Amino acid sequence: MTAGPTPRRIALISVHTSPLAQPGTGDAGGMNVYVWQTATRLARRGIDVEIFTRATSSTDQPVVDAAPGVTVRNVVAGPFDGLDKRDLPSQLCAFSANVLRAEAAQEPGYYDLIHSHYWLSGQVGWLARDRWGVPLIHTAHTLAAVKNAALAAGDAAEPMLRVVGEQQVVDEADRLIANTATEVAELVDMYGADPSRIDVVVPGADLDRYSPGDRSASRAVLGLRPDDVFVTFVGRIQPLKAPDVLVAAMAPLIKADSTSRLRVMVVGGPSGSGLAQPTALIDLAERLGIADRVDFLPPQPPERLVHVYRASDVVAVPSYSESFGLVAIEAQACGVPVIAARVGGLGVAVNDGRTGVLVDGHDVDEWTRRLSELLADPARRADMGRAAGQHALQFSWEHTTDSLLAGYTRAMSAFGRHAQPDGGRFGLRRWRNRAKVMA
Ligand code: UDP
Repeated sequence: MTAGPTPRRIALISVHTSPLAQPGTGDAGGMNVYVWQTATRLARRGIDVEIFTRATSSTDQPVVDAAPGVTVRNVVAGPFDGLDKRDLPSQLCAFSANVLRAEAAQEPGYYDLIHSHYWLSGQVGWLARDRWGVPLIHTAHTLAAVKNAALAAGDAAEPMLRVVGEQQVVDEADRLIANTATEVAELVDMYGADPSRIDVVVPGADLDRYSPGDRSASRAVLGLRPDDVFVTFVGRIQPLKAPDVLVAAMAPLIKADSTSRLRVMVVGGPSGSGLAQPTALIDLAERLGIADRVDFLPPQPPERLVHVYRASDVVAVPSYSESFGLVAIEAQACGVPVIAARVGGLGVAVNDGRTGVLVDGHDVDEWTRRLSELLADPARRADMGRAAGQHALQFSWEHTTDSLLAGYTRAMSAFGRHAQPDGGRFGLRRWRNRAKVMA
């Protein structure tokens, strides 16, 4: 552990999605899991965590005691429903005003630190940091410039509004948290971030929940046939995640399968719009003549998702970009090999050739070939599954929390020395980078 100050109470900002939402659909995914898992663990270490998120239902209570030491503050900013994530920049003023009011109602110096998640929250954290005189730590989760450089066919580019807003947050945050060294390089190369202000904090999996288990028992829980072979996709159904690449790549294998046992399982709900929506996926499976061999399950809570992983023979993560990819770790923690695109954090999450397979690009024929190799060799899959279970043990939320705390300490130690909420600290670099990103 890094010696130095630790916060007594932190304001954790998650504007666009609540940690209490079911992940795997809409805007709820890995970030929700990350926020919840780290908040509860920070609280167990004696830190009060208050999470500010946007209220999305009239039944959301303003203040929810979500777990010992974890409070969720549902901030009213705009209508409860009908607002797309892309509309949320219009509500940042309302959201920020209510965050500032909540703090003003407490004794002075109520929060020691702000941790913002995703750029929308970073914008709020920037203002609150200047008002409260505490350090701002920011985790981007995904970066627009990275996403735009690897778009799925038909997927909409992230708007300039986000690119510019994200750049401002990168420039203003006292420290940045990156999932992997790859993300550090992206922040430095694409956003001109100062590497000495970035901490690598590797995300984890809930290893108490996700562990190897009996495949047949899990199949019985889910009502699946004991001797089918399942290649499974878990996550938000959106073009970026490329479930269509998996379905298309599996089609020739399913058609050539004389046992009629090979199936694709797709677990998750719609997110955004575009080619890979569930209805479009069903259409695709129908066009390819494999609709009766593709199973769709709605988003599953963790206590059932563990059975989905354990029931699977292979889990596929074909995403176009992925800052980490929690699904890849959770599946491996359950002793299941993963076939993943060699992008972003998936290169860290999967040990290529040992715990799974990394595939370059999204060429459907190449995916068919790599899947076919894996499916033809049950002994290799079993070896990989065992290695995957071991590999995943290094990714724990406890470890993530240790690293976060070290970053908080660094931020608090440095803050008194050079923080000046004058907006001009990084001014020159800000404009230079903005020109670079917009070019
Ligand atoms: N998830 C879930 N139920 C589902 C599908 C996904 O709880 O039906 C969770 C999954 O356990 C994982 C997260 O959603 O923790 C997805 O995170 P990942 O990093 O893979 O993708 P992201 O959503 O961040 O793009």
